[in-house]
Amino acid sequence: MGEAASRKIYMCLRCGRVFSLEDMITPGVHCPYCGYRIIVKIRSFQTKRISHIE
Ligand SMILES: [Zn+2]
Repeated sequence: MGEAASRKIYMCLRCGRVFSLEDMITPGVHCPYCGYRIIVKIRSFQTKRISHIE
């Protein structure tokens, strides 16, 4: 049911720092670094594994 394993990444539009939900301790959505409210939600990192084996 739950997607607890999926990690959601957020990025601040002001300072451009990337952080996760765990970094946001205060209620609401704020940048833990500069306190900016406008942040964008980024999908969890997906490492591109390009196996180039012939
Ligand atoms: Zn910020």
